[in-house]
Amino acid sequence: MTATQKLSFDVQLSDHARTAAERAEVLANPGFGTYFTDHMISIDYTEGEGWHDARLMPYGPLSLDPATSVFHYAQELFEGLKAYRQSSGAIVMFRPYANAARFNTSAARMAMPALPEDAFVESLELLVQTDRDWVPTAEGHSLYLRPFMIATQPALGVNYPSRTYKYMVIASPAASYFSGGVRPVSVWLSTEYTRAAPGGTGFAKCGGNYAAAFVAQRQAVENGCDQVVWLDAHEHRYVEEMGGMNLFFVFGDKLLTPALTGTLLPGITRDSILTIAGQVGLEVEEGRISIEEWQAGCESGELTEVFACGTAAVITPVGSAKGADRAWTVGDGTPGPVTLKLREELMGIQYGTRPDTHDWIHKIC
Ligand SMILES: *Cc1c(COP(=O)(O)O)cnc(C)c1O
Repeated sequence: MTATQKLSFDVQLSDHARTAAERAEVLANPGFGTYFTDHMISIDYTEGEGWHDARLMPYGPLSLDPATSVFHYAQELFEGLKAYRQSSGAIVMFRPYANAARFNTSAARMAMPALPEDAFVESLELLVQTDRDWVPTAEGHSLYLRPFMIATQPALGVNYPSRTYKYMVIASPAASYFSGGVRPVSVWLSTEYTRAAPGGTGFAKCGGNYAAAFVAQRQAVENGCDQVVWLDAHEHRYVEEMGGMNLFFVFGDKLLTPALTGTLLPGITRDSILTIAGQVGLEVEEGRISIEEWQAGCESGELTEVFACGTAAVITPVGSAKGADRAWTVGDGTPGPVTLKLREELMGIQYGTRPDTHDWIHKIC
């Protein structure tokens, strides 16, 4: 398939789809990333031939040769976005073309083939349309969509990337990330481990970044914190991001977020907040902030709020920070007004209770 050719999807419906009662039981308490819908998308790629065999099929396990290169060299990438059921009953996605573009940026870094943006978005539409009854109706709930791509060539040679790939999409009903309101998280400043260095894969949404992060996340928990905050690779001083979320620092009516230097993931939530901040009277700056400035700002009261943002948890306040030789609270440790205001604005657009002035909402059905 070339960029202008349209893929046509072969549709194979499940003959063992869950009943309405079984589905209702899952949707009553979906958690996050635990249950999956009845179908999935698969598209194959072969060097020289391009993308082919696009299909919607029953959800189920894959059978792969043990020599398949993704198992050995982690040539893999993924995306994450949500389908929302709006108050009008419409099912929509939020900025899916931004995810499509980022998917291809990640693919280029991982020496993997690009997928035409329309095929990416169409694959999501087809899966959500087919499994539309799995899009939750409960407030703050959604259907989390996970597109990903793996290298499928069964070969152990390391001198060239795989010549075959598989793109897939699976979908998982999701509760609001934090049940019982917006709970501030505590963060651990990782001066021992590094997530990403210049020239590395920090800006790509690849599984390997996460594989290398688990040990630091475990250290955060051992130190009584919820999440790890990554610092720059060189000095371990400048803030990059938090776990799988970007960070914002609130100085009264000014927002500061670490600039996209190549070592952090360009979040779509981050970009959306930079765009809507002006509408709620906030100034924005993309720059850098050290852990000393973060601590001093909180102690002087100049730095009033800190929050993390990402698709899964939307906007989450950061209540306290701790490192090997320091610990402090942010504000009074409770969610601040700017954090809550931006959260309400963004979720309002996603769930259709606020006007979509930026054309971010993509209606599916
Ligand atoms: C996905 C991700 C984010 C957030 O990106 P969104 O597009 O806002 O969901 C931030 N950091 C990392 C490391 C991520 O993988």
